[in-house]
Amino acid sequence: MLPLIAPLPTLEAAPPFKIVLINPYELGRQPFALAEPAAWLKREGFAVSCVDLSLEKLDPEMLGSAGLVAVYVGMHTATRIAVQALPHISRLAPKAHLCVYGLYAPMNETLLRALGVGSVLGGEVELALVTLAKRLLANGTATTRRGTAMAQTEPVISLGKIPFEVPDRSGLPALSRYAHLVLPDGTTRVAGFAEGSRGCKHLCRHCPVVPVYRGIFRIVPAGVVMEDIRQQVREGATHISFGDPDFFNGPTHGLRLARALHDTFPEVTFDATIKIQHLIDHAELLPELRRSGCLFITSAVESVDDDILRLFAKNHTSRDFDRAVALTREAGIALAPTFVAFTPWTTLEGYIALLERLVELQIVESVPLVQLTIRLLVPEGSYLLQLPGFREKLMAFDARLLGYPWSHPDPRVDRLQLDLQALVARCEQQGLPRREVFAAVWRMAHEAAQRPAPMLAGNLGSPIPRLSEPWYCCAEPTDQQLQSF
Ligand code: SF4
Repeated sequence: MLPLIAPLPTLEAAPPFKIVLINPYELGRQPFALAEPAAWLKREGFAVSCVDLSLEKLDPEMLGSAGLVAVYVGMHTATRIAVQALPHISRLAPKAHLCVYGLYAPMNETLLRALGVGSVLGGEVELALVTLAKRLLANGTATTRRGTAMAQTEPVISLGKIPFEVPDRSGLPALSRYAHLVLPDGTTRVAGFAEGSRGCKHLCRHCPVVPVYRGIFRIVPAGVVMEDIRQQVREGATHISFGDPDFFNGPTHGLRLARALHDTFPEVTFDATIKIQHLIDHAELLPELRRSGCLFITSAVESVDDDILRLFAKNHTSRDFDRAVALTREAGIALAPTFVAFTPWTTLEGYIALLERLVELQIVESVPLVQLTIRLLVPEGSYLLQLPGFREKLMAFDARLLGYPWSHPDPRVDRLQLDLQALVARCEQQGLPRREVFAAVWRMAHEAAQRPAPMLAGNLGSPIPRLSEPWYCCAEPTDQQLQSF
């Protein structure tokens, strides 16, 4: 007789703890800020799905089984979309703990918690996300429900050094579906996106990086950056857009990356963001950046009014802008300046002076039109709020706008800003050339100041390489974006 052997109990594998990372919008870029945490979380054995709302819809099935849903808010527009989407996400993911992470999360903490968000994370968030996921897993589903079921123990802002992982881009839409490089002859190229550093060592008062990073920046090792670039080149990228807040916060590191990129992929070009002060202080590095494939540099000029530049603590003067234009031109690199064109201190004369300077410097074609309409955004935590007397210029915090609204003492300035915003949106939809739209902006600004508009003659500059989605972080989201989920 065969001995009776009791059957072994079937060990049912525990269902994997599912995490969904959601990106509302990232300037048309494939979201690095999903790919980087995805790599960390997958390494720990979590089942991670990514959803990019700029190209995809929320999947009820995916969300229904999620234990953690983390929404990335790296910019104002993304945060506005996230605030609209959160109640919907919450309904679709009844078992999930809700987390919001990224630059705009800490400054909107109160509002996000009121929307049922259990964890708010900013700064170097990867480690905190892993810790949170592990705690949720350990505590079981009963306590993983969102809200106050589990108090946050991770710091709201983490600035400690973390070991970077190569981002895992496998769960994201194909690179070719994102913003392209557009060359002056109209041809386009697939663009990848990389980060060589995070945070910033400067303290410009109007900048959203400052309330979180407070003058700190972190270097991503060149090997990790190059591995990330390599995987994007395999996906067809022939141009890399470096998203560092400032590529020359560590100029040696920036140069090392440019050299490594050129040595490894001599045919791949790149662009980066570098502040005016750094362009002047490190002017000797510009020719090598050009030789390494740098096509254009975005620089936050913000204003041509020295008083406004001082209020912003930009550390450059209006004439430094001219110098930076000359230096980049000499090096053969196009400069794409960005502006905060409308502030409570901007006068109609000051606005016209900005347009005149663009004409004088022959860079009308280099300025994305939306930059001529940007209105100062004052989010919670902005260092501008520390300026004596500034709060008194503001209205009460508006949760819908995620900021403190202000109106200009001269109502003609506010009217002009609104009219220009509508004009530029209309003209961009029609695909009108920049110089044509600039001419309309020129006429409207002079009309508002009741001044005759001089003829726009002479060289206004030539079109420069650009990304098909212009760089700006504080624009009003479109209705389409607000319904993208
Ligand atoms: S505006 Fe640029 S330089 Fe100034 S703090 Fe922000 S990222 Fe740094």
